[in-house]
Amino acid sequence: MSKINVTVNGRPVAVDAGSTILDAANKAQVRIPTLCHIEGLEPTGSCRVCSVEVEGRKTLVPSCAEPATDGMKIRTNTPRVLLARKQMIQLMLANHPDDCLYCMRAGDCDLQQMAEDAGIRERAWRRGEHRSHPVDRSSPSVVRDPEKCILCGKCVRVCDEVQGVAAIDHAGRGFDSFVLPAFDDELASTTCVNCGQCVAICPTGALVERSDLSRVWRYLADDALVTVVQTAPAVRAALAHVYGMSGGDAEARMVTALREMGFAQVFDTQYAADLTIMEEGTELLHRIQEGGPLPLITSCSPGWIKFAEHFYPDSLENLSTCKSPQQMLGAMVKNYWAEQMDVPAENIRVVAVMPCTAKKFEAERPEMETEGGRDVDAVITTRELIRAFGEMSMDFEVLEPGEFDRFLGASSGAGAIFGATGGVAEAALRTVFYLLTGENPGPEDFEAVRGLEGVKEIELTLPDGAVVRGAVIHGLGNARRVMDRVASGETDYAFIEIMACPGGCVGGGGQPYGADLQRTAELAGELYEIDEKRVLRFSHENPEIQKAYEDYLESPLSDRSHALLHTQYRGRSQFSAEDEASE
Ligand code: SF4
Ligand code: SF4
Ligand code: SF4
Repeated sequence: MSKINVTVNGRPVAVDAGSTILDAANKAQVRIPTLCHIEGLEPTGSCRVCSVEVEGRKTLVPSCAEPATDGMKIRTNTPRVLLARKQMIQLMLANHPDDCLYCMRAGDCDLQQMAEDAGIRERAWRRGEHRSHPVDRSSPSVVRDPEKCILCGKCVRVCDEVQGVAAIDHAGRGFDSFVLPAFDDELASTTCVNCGQCVAICPTGALVERSDLSRVWRYLADDALVTVVQTAPAVRAALAHVYGMSGGDAEARMVTALREMGFAQVFDTQYAADLTIMEEGTELLHRIQEGGPLPLITSCSPGWIKFAEHFYPDSLENLSTCKSPQQMLGAMVKNYWAEQMDVPAENIRVVAVMPCTAKKFEAERPEMETEGGRDVDAVITTRELIRAFGEMSMDFEVLEPGEFDRFLGASSGAGAIFGATGGVAEAALRTVFYLLTGENPGPEDFEAVRGLEGVKEIELTLPDGAVVRGAVIHGLGNARRVMDRVASGETDYAFIEIMACPGGCVGGGGQPYGADLQRTAELAGELYEIDEKRVLRFSHENPEIQKAYEDYLESPLSDRSHALLHTQYRGRSQFSAEDEASE
């Protein structure tokens, strides 16, 4: 690609032809604030906060939308630019509640930070007549406060262009503009799949996760309850990033932090990831040997499951019947662990710490219940866990390393990589290869499924020479493209891994704010490193999993496994949350 040369604040920089001014500034390591820009999507230039001066131009130009041209001289910090930026922010604040003290985004809010950086200390315009709209708390995953919306449009674009759901859109004009679900319905009544990608990208408190932290503190304060916790692989990867340490160190300190919070037992969702591999790998082999239905599609991402229920109800028989690891672990605690420890299941509360807002929805699905009661009683995100540390004034970095409770806490490296796109397929193939040949493959034999390409393909050669093909997909927009081809019979995949969020769970909607592709790749790298350092790399070699089958479950896909670890799905309307038929 040909290069052009520009200067940004006097710094010369060469960029690819076709780059924007914002790209050039990033390359020159000059920070330009933006509120509406999304990396990888076409710019809209709607917030104008990123406007800059270009020599020879009379008006300021939005740097995210303006192409850089050879010889361009760009200035991002002249008094004219700063005054214009201040005015744009003041205009947003003119219609914004002074709610920071009580807002979940306080201290971690792009708008608040931008106002601070711009030196805004008082309102330029008194808050007069303003748009008023009630807070929507209908969803188990996402809370909408339209009065805090600055109409940047990022949520609309992510929901439509990245996730292919389009549950929310712009409505009204001028002063009456809002971002709303269709027909101004409650979010819970729409096709929203609860992925939280809108929450992760919203620059204000207009979209936040429904916090269940207070409920968790109430459980922990109740001496009559035995409250246990499980944590997903991607949570430790995010903590490693936030606190600047390795994934292994973050994992060990996280366990100590959870014990200090008061949890009676600290279990690892990675144990249940190993269990999922045993069940799902066996299910795949059965389907291959017994003629389908194929492709078998993974079922551990609840955002993907609800997406399939709305938009691909005819493919529901292709979904694995396995519950997600979160739900499997909850069912094992309330039945197996309760029996072994002689604890009445009704006194147990299972809390899950997840990178995901859709897990809150999943935990409340009516299907997610066994004789022991609800599989999981409360789900908090990685962000909520970090807030809990703050509430406890806990210094995470100085905590002593701890270890998971072994009973439902021992896991293999295969369980760790579940948190990254491709991880479920890679972990499953390690065990499927063993089940077919009686020998372990090299732990890295299936690493072709790693990386952030939206759709990846892989092949496995069976002992009889037959080749089984599979696909790995992340992001629901990519899933839609592949599922359309599956529905029209254009593919010959035997299995497909689908994760709703870009990058998989490491890029989940409940992870710390500020995600981008680079961070997502780094978090995935933490999980691969944890896998590499584990002595155990294969789910089928996890001794606690072997013991669970010997003592309790009997074998993968046994009647008891089905009762505890498997579920069913329901067709839903393409236009609303309504159920249409049961599978
Ligand atoms: S969204 Fe940001 S600026 Fe608005 S009330 Fe919340 S913290 Fe304050
Ligand atoms: S949670 Fe996901 S599906 Fe729902 S509105 Fe947000 S981006 Fe769209
Ligand atoms: S809800 Fe958030 S992301 Fe969506 S338009 Fe409003 S401020 Fe932007």
